[in-house]
Amino acid sequence: MLRKVIKFGGSSVGSTEAIKKVTEIVASMRGEERPLAIVVSAFEKITDQLISAAKVAASGDVAYKDISQTIVDRHRLVADFFFNCERRTQILNALNSTLAELEGILYGIYLVREASLKTLDMVMSFGERCSAFLISEIFKDNAIQADYLDARILVRTDERFSKAKVDVDTTYENIRNYFESRQGLQVVTGFIGATLRGDTTTLGRGGSDYSASIFGAALGVEEIEIWTDVDGVMTADPRKVEKAFSIDQMTYEEAMELSHFGAKVIYPPTMQPALAAHIPLRIKNTFNAEFPGTLISEKNIVSQQVVKGVSAIDEISLLRIEGSGMVGVPGVSHRLFGALARKEVSVILITQASSEHSICIAVLPEFELIAREAIEAEFALEIQAGQIDEVVVEGNLSIVAAVGENMRHSPGIAGRLFQALGKNGVNIVAIAQGSSELNISAVVSKKDQAKALNVIHEAFFLSDKKRLNLFLVGPGKVGSKLLEQMAEQEGAMLSEQCLEIRLIGVADSNKMLFVPKGVAFANWKKDLNSSTEAMDITQFVKKMRAANLPRSVFVDCTADDNIAAAYKDILSASIAVVTPNKKANSRSWSEYKALKNAAIKSNTKFYYEANVGAGLPVISTLRDLLLSGDEVIKIEAVLSGTLSFIFNAFTGERGFTDVVKEARDKGYTEPDPRDDLSGMDVARKILILAREIGIALELSDVEVENLVPAECRNCSTVEEFFGELSQRESIFDDRLARAKQRGEKLCYIASLANGRATVLLRSIGPEHPFYSLAVGDNVISFLTKRYCERPLVVRGPGAGTDVTAAGVLADIIRLSD
Ligand code: ADP
Ligand code: ASP
Ligand code: MG
Repeated sequence: MLRKVIKFGGSSVGSTEAIKKVTEIVASMRGEERPLAIVVSAFEKITDQLISAAKVAASGDVAYKDISQTIVDRHRLVADFFFNCERRTQILNALNSTLAELEGILYGIYLVREASLKTLDMVMSFGERCSAFLISEIFKDNAIQADYLDARILVRTDERFSKAKVDVDTTYENIRNYFESRQGLQVVTGFIGATLRGDTTTLGRGGSDYSASIFGAALGVEEIEIWTDVDGVMTADPRKVEKAFSIDQMTYEEAMELSHFGAKVIYPPTMQPALAAHIPLRIKNTFNAEFPGTLISEKNIVSQQVVKGVSAIDEISLLRIEGSGMVGVPGVSHRLFGALARKEVSVILITQASSEHSICIAVLPEFELIAREAIEAEFALEIQAGQIDEVVVEGNLSIVAAVGENMRHSPGIAGRLFQALGKNGVNIVAIAQGSSELNISAVVSKKDQAKALNVIHEAFFLSDKKRLNLFLVGPGKVGSKLLEQMAEQEGAMLSEQCLEIRLIGVADSNKMLFVPKGVAFANWKKDLNSSTEAMDITQFVKKMRAANLPRSVFVDCTADDNIAAAYKDILSASIAVVTPNKKANSRSWSEYKALKNAAIKSNTKFYYEANVGAGLPVISTLRDLLLSGDEVIKIEAVLSGTLSFIFNAFTGERGFTDVVKEARDKGYTEPDPRDDLSGMDVARKILILAREIGIALELSDVEVENLVPAECRNCSTVEEFFGELSQRESIFDDRLARAKQRGEKLCYIASLANGRATVLLRSIGPEHPFYSLAVGDNVISFLTKRYCERPLVVRGPGAGTDVTAAGVLADIIRLSD
């Protein structure tokens, strides 16, 4: 036998569909399984609408009638849906007379232009009264023997309207006496009660849960069930943290703590009567009735999981009292909290700096003013004497908290939490650990709340699965290849590396597109085309910042200077940057340093492996060498696949111009081959390697042999250039002939030694390691202290969209470490 009290919340009775579900659930419970009482809330949103009707009326605005009409319509619609002609008339008559009473009260408020808390409680009571009445009648039509019970006749409270306290002894006795003589299932109005004088009161928003607990405890049932619209108490509010999952078991204290810190799924006072009577609470989902939900009881099943859940209070104000007068003076906190308590200010969180120089308290915004006045009055003398400064108030803040019984015994939890927040650029305004050690909470800016929740959730529950939020600009050759590779690798990345990449924003030079839940990799082109938002890098950055997502990555696949100019802002916003674009790293040394510093300062990453040697691990190899304490003596490298191709193909059988044309026709060169032949691209690459070592070089310090003959440099078209070049081929023929005489080859080599960087066309013999370089390959040879006999050589295809995109993807994946 399992006698219960069951509560259905507003969301479980929010629509005719939902009410049908509730009826089915209750009808399926037969015999002893049937609960003694069903406590119901007002239909979803009705309480809000009642309050707003009253407030609008009190402001003297007749528009209150529209709101009250919506309320009337919602209830009539339910009656129309569930009852046939004869019953409908009967039900509507009863309903209409109740609603007429509401109309009368609202009109009264409109006339006197005033809605006291007492009147508001009266107005709010209509929500639960109508819903409990209708549901009891619907039950009757479904073979459930049920009675409507207006809780005001049983639940006795004090006169604190809007948040009344229940007189437990009287109420329990009333309930027991009443139920003794009843047979049928009682359908009880949640949320409401009455004072000794018979005035209607409410138990605080969300208070139907509390009503259920009171009824359950009074009747000594075996379980109190709270049915709602989610699978029980979850690791976080699923509306804010998509990856939240349900918790199967928790203690009363944990539930209390979690709800105290904002988990709306259960109203905090609910736990008290259940705990006192040792009755377990179970949270279940009306829309997934089979699911066992969450059991809240005394038992603390020790599990691996130290943190049970994370939650947030949307808006709080922080009051800070500082001053020399606080130090070492006993009784300051005592006076402070005494003053606040007398004004009935409930303090959510307290932190005291170890220096005792300041005390911070967090309160709901509605208490901000009263709290401030109370403190200022209490410490008026000290303030006047300058021992205590004025009270500083800070608003627009949220509290995020991690809660769990096992946290008490686990060191390092706070560190993990703050590290997770810090890594993602969430600034912590204040921190506190509850005296029960059941929670750790942090005050953060309101705009960071969602990010903070997700980051903490990830840190404690999903440390093995990570999600990167990607923003990509420039889906040209490399960019679109990258997206293609990510689409192909999606499954493997998830299963093998527990890594999920979501494309939140994408932009080409014309348009940009943002999709909070992510664009499917296969559809980005179509979706971007249909976007109506014009691309603007400033706006793009703004939107990334506003999205404020954890583990954000900006990927720049353009070769655009303007985009590169935005990196600093992006990094400063704790968004990682990954790019094959060399522009940013080859600007001035001071700009380069500024970028590096921005990344360090905001604890984020700036990766650009594909800057040099495309997908070849050049920069990472160099970094690893340096990190392991090695010293670079010399770097020699062929860093242009295009020039490697050209000088391999230029064997004397064909003219130099023909070879360059072939390279162009095969797509190996830039649209204007002079961009390759000028050597600037290679100069940028060797410059980046030099800077990586810490050498403060400027691009102008690199000695570059420009292979474009002087006369060809000013040609206005590529064709004109080819014409001019063919006239000057002898320069190249001569160089080749001289090399051949010595049994050597031409090779365009970048080198770095003794702090000097050069990029020159050189003649090399068979003993040189670059002599046998395959057509189009790159090679980078590092001569270091450790690799001094034989240099460490990285060799392979150093150009092409495929390998470049792969280099970018490798950087992105590395970010998830
Ligand atoms: P009801 O109408 O049933 O009383 P509420 O809206 O009061 O329902 O509470 C349920 C809601 O609480 C859920 O829809 C969910 O968005 C929110 N919620 C907040 N924190 C949590 C949490 N930790 N677990 C489950 N739900 C939560
Ligand atoms: N209807 C009330 C409210 O909206 C009580 C409840 O839903 O628990 O606050
Ligand atoms: Mg609720």
